[in-house]
Amino acid sequence: MSYDENNIFAKILRGEIPCKKIYENEFILSFYDINPQKKIHALVIPKGKYTDLDDFSLNASPDEMVGLLKGINTVANKLGISVENGNGYRALVNISENGGQEVPHLHFHLFGGEKVGKMVE
Ligand code: AMP
Repeated sequence: MSYDENNIFAKILRGEIPCKKIYENEFILSFYDINPQKKIHALVIPKGKYTDLDDFSLNASPDEMVGLLKGINTVANKLGISVENGNGYRALVNISENGGQEVPHLHFHLFGGEKVGKMVE
């Protein structure tokens, strides 16, 4: 699938739509989900134009890959939900149609601040 420049996260990255920002660096942007499913529900997105995790795995540079993984840990620390600095959390990625992905720009959901519960319903 080709990248849709008009997806909502692309608009957030371009500053056309506001977000409740948690953290940003050269590789990632993190903000709160607009419809939180748990006490803490954050999103972490790469700044590069990747539709989903498969696209990212195939096409992102090693620096972008490291930047995204390290960024997730940085955000979890900032939110006080990481292993080093909290009680843990769940990172989840929906991938394409069967995965239930709604926004076609790769994003990790971080759920925490409470017991997250059953993995798949
Ligand atoms: P997914 O189903 O994995 O594609 O998740 C998309 C997520 O994006 C959902 O949890 C939405 O609540 C969230 N979302 C949609 N629009 C916005 C927005 N403008 N700001 C923050 N989160 C959003």
